[in-house]
Amino acid sequence: MDFEELVCYSQTIILIILGIGYYLNVKNNTLPLKSKVESKCPSCGYTISDKEVNYCAKCGNMLSHSKGLSLEK
Ligand SMILES: [Zn+2]
Repeated sequence: MDFEELVCYSQTIILIILGIGYYLNVKNNTLPLKSKVESKCPSCGYTISDKEVNYCAKCGNMLSHSKGLSLEK
C-alpha cells in the first residue's frame, strides 16, 4: 500500500464519520420536537415548556400533575 492509497482510504473514512455525525445531528434535532411536552398554568395560562418544573414561572402557582404532591404530606 503506497501513501496516496492510504490518503484515499482515510478520506473515505472521514467522509463516513461526517455522514454518521450528520445523521446523528438530524436525529437529535428531530427527537426533542416529538417528545416535547408543553403544559399550561391553570391559573394564568402561562406556557410551561419544562415538564420537570412544579411551579409556574410567571405566577408561582403549584402545578398539580406531579411530584409536588409529596411535599404537601
Ligand atoms: Zn401561572
